[in-house]
Amino acid sequence: MRNRLSAGLLLFAVGYGCSEPEPTGSATPEIDTDVIAFVNVNVVPMTTEQVFESYTVLIDEGRIRDIGPVAATTIPTGATRIDGTGRYLMPGLTETHGHLPSASVPAMVTENFLFLYIANGVTTVRGMQGNDSQIALREKIRTGELLGPQLVLGSPSMTGTDVTSTEQAEALVRSYDEAGYDLVKVHEGLAPEVYDAVAGTAFQLGMPFAGHVSDHVGLFRALDIGQSTIDHLDNYVEALVPEGQELEEPPGLRGAHELLERIDESRIDLLVQKTLDADGSVVPTMVLWESGIYATRPSEVLLEERPEIAYMPKETVERWVEAVDARIEEADPEAMMRLAALRRRILKALHDGGVRILLGTDSPQIFSVPGFSIHREMKLYTEVGMSPYDVLASGTKVAGDFLTGDFGRIELGQRADLLLLEANPLDNVANVSKRVGVMVNGEFITEEEIQKRLKEIAASYER
Ligand SMILES: [Zn+2]
Repeated sequence: MRNRLSAGLLLFAVGYGCSEPEPTGSATPEIDTDVIAFVNVNVVPMTTEQVFESYTVLIDEGRIRDIGPVAATTIPTGATRIDGTGRYLMPGLTETHGHLPSASVPAMVTENFLFLYIANGVTTVRGMQGNDSQIALREKIRTGELLGPQLVLGSPSMTGTDVTSTEQAEALVRSYDEAGYDLVKVHEGLAPEVYDAVAGTAFQLGMPFAGHVSDHVGLFRALDIGQSTIDHLDNYVEALVPEGQELEEPPGLRGAHELLERIDESRIDLLVQKTLDADGSVVPTMVLWESGIYATRPSEVLLEERPEIAYMPKETVERWVEAVDARIEEADPEAMMRLAALRRRILKALHDGGVRILLGTDSPQIFSVPGFSIHREMKLYTEVGMSPYDVLASGTKVAGDFLTGDFGRIELGQRADLLLLEANPLDNVANVSKRVGVMVNGEFITEEEIQKRLKEIAASYER
């Protein structure tokens, strides 16, 4: 794996860090040309709200091998040095609800999508719309054959339309386990007994199951039974309707606004308590819900607001425009605004109550461009009242501890998925965009390289 890294790193070493003085550590430095050293950097470890000033962080084989004050940390002779003076080093971000490409997507477009994540400092993606081709993709990234974020793979979606019996549910979950998926994706419409069969089989196999909450199952049952994550705050609005006052037909994925006159907001405390009792986790995907699912603004506004759509294929953007405009046409904008505001109050209550929040945006769904959407989502969380530290934690430490336990913190032994920034992200989450470079899978990609590749991607979609 090392040889693949050397070309980029050599290039990089010319530009940075060569004038760095020798370390003052007492030990005689060993010789190790594989090591990469971030020298004299402000470390944002995400294990504490503290910043460790003037530290050296050593990376070897894609892992953090040493970390300590500059004076006390010996850099091996031959290591590649990256000057961190005045800069900040934080863990890479996680997209906890992404849709990875299927086999029908051209290889070039897939590579572009993966790069958009890296370009935005997203170094792990939990794929929530599985396809067998993604198993090989995960491996190619792991071995360094392809540049991309570490992938955690959800199975193909299990919906009520496709999965109608307990036997079928069991067989499918077993096949997803055998195929090598990391978790089972559950979706709208599953009947309670079918959902229970999914859950039972998944538990037997030690596989988490996560995603939507079927209206037929309901939030409380999903939490009680141990659904790993509740994505999109699905069914939280529905669960605000007191018992006995539900609609005759459940409102489905896009119909929660029909419940606005029936909900009792004082039940939010109950929802928070139930989620805590179940040790539940939520992946809010707020921006997509406000701009796409319960569209509150027409597509012209979104096109204007989001220059990053230049990095998406034209046909995709056309579909997004149609989806939003159709939604605006059929929905009552005032009801949509009320629903958006209610979702924000629910998220705030969940966060204030101590529920585990995992950063996720549902990219690339309607107007949420991979990677770029993470920054919009983080901004929204701060508007809801989360501190920059808590917002960053939702995409680093909390996500890492929740998914595999070996990334998301700057600590010995953790994956060296890292962002080098010009400004302190704890002052403002917008500073996460002020990149010097991104380290992923042992490779450091400079901002210059990122911008160059982004230009190429945009050019490839122009007609
Ligand atoms: Zn999704």
